[in-house]
Amino acid sequence: MFVEKIEQRYSVTVVLTTLLVFAVPLALGGVLRPTLLRAMTYMIVASPCAVVLATMPPLLSAIANAGRHGVLVKSAIVMEQLGQTTQVAFDKTGTLTQGTPHVTGVQVLADLRAEEVLRLAASAEHPSEHPLGRAVVAAATGRGLALANTGDFAATPGRGVTALVEGQRVQVGSPALLTAPTPSQTVVVTTVEAKGDTAVVVLVNGRPVGVLTLADQLRPTAAATVTALRGLTGHTPVLLTGDNALAARSLAEQAGIRDVHAALLPEDKVQRVQALRDAGQHVLVVGDGINDAPALATANLGVAMGRHGSDLTLQTADAVLVRDDLTALPALLRLSRAARRAVVQNLVLATLAILGLVAWDLLGTLPLPLGVLGHEGGTVLIGLNGLRLLRKSAWRP
Ligand code: ADP
Ligand code: MG
Repeated sequence: MFVEKIEQRYSVTVVLTTLLVFAVPLALGGVLRPTLLRAMTYMIVASPCAVVLATMPPLLSAIANAGRHGVLVKSAIVMEQLGQTTQVAFDKTGTLTQGTPHVTGVQVLADLRAEEVLRLAASAEHPSEHPLGRAVVAAATGRGLALANTGDFAATPGRGVTALVEGQRVQVGSPALLTAPTPSQTVVVTTVEAKGDTAVVVLVNGRPVGVLTLADQLRPTAAATVTALRGLTGHTPVLLTGDNALAARSLAEQAGIRDVHAALLPEDKVQRVQALRDAGQHVLVVGDGINDAPALATANLGVAMGRHGSDLTLQTADAVLVRDDLTALPALLRLSRAARRAVVQNLVLATLAILGLVAWDLLGTLPLPLGVLGHEGGTVLIGLNGLRLLRKSAWRP
């Protein structure tokens, strides 16, 4: 951190100048006792106790306060930077939405029964940690279907899953990315997506056998959060999603977002984030899935949803919304700004106190006890000013 570097150099400077304050007057014929006293007073009042206490207490208090409200901020540097965000980018599924989609329809494309399509899909999805995967499994078990054992499972972030089910290769995932769509599939998929839902195609040995409709709900706090973030950052948040454009647009509209980028693979999300950074924005990305981890790492700051977040995403993130509460985001930005303000106030106060006391000591005569009192008093005040960030009122959702 910038301040830490300054503190180090400052401390060295104080020690060296103390030697000068002692040696120079002595060399010019000064009397030992008063010269030594003045140099000692100088060292006390010029030492950077107040400067050291200026930065960490506000930031650590803010981190503690955020923790009490279900937000894990991983370092003081992150806390310092959160408030400088100028552009927020949201992932859709699991972030702006509840992340608990439900299967609302099963359409058959081949000579299989709907239940069989669902059973095969759920068997393939069983090891998946994606919200869509869990929804498919829940739908199948909810209908009393017994899942088959699977082998050779693989998940491709942003695309879907593949597994061997009863000797057949079953794939479940994004229609646009998995298949060259047949006309009947296109009709089914377009109808689903036009309603704002997510369509997932099921393939057996490369042949499309069905389309699952999954409906997810916007988090009730999403729209208010978007409005608050626009006010704080000066820009409306954008949506970066791997889902289809129609579903993304319909959902974004409800949340008050107009800038929508859909059908993105993880690397496309990275590219969008990089483009925003190149345009000079200080970008904060919020996501939950493993497909968001690269984008989180590319952003200035990454925030993960705690409940739905995949392990990699939680690890990559600079902060975690442990309770998946979106309203914590604007509160966090405000808290960070308040902490930064306290840091600046403290630095100004510390500088004034040090300059005043040093001038008094060098130009006039500052009695040692008064020097100690001024120095320690200032330090305590600055410490207390930092602890203000612990107060309940510093958290404003
Ligand atoms: P988002 O960016 O909105 O969180 P993802 O990138 O996680 O969406 O997923 C993008 C698309 O990839 C989904 O809409 C779906 O079509 C497909 N997909 C990804 N994982 C799965 C899965 N486990 N099962 C089915 N489809 C999946
Ligand atoms: Mg997601």
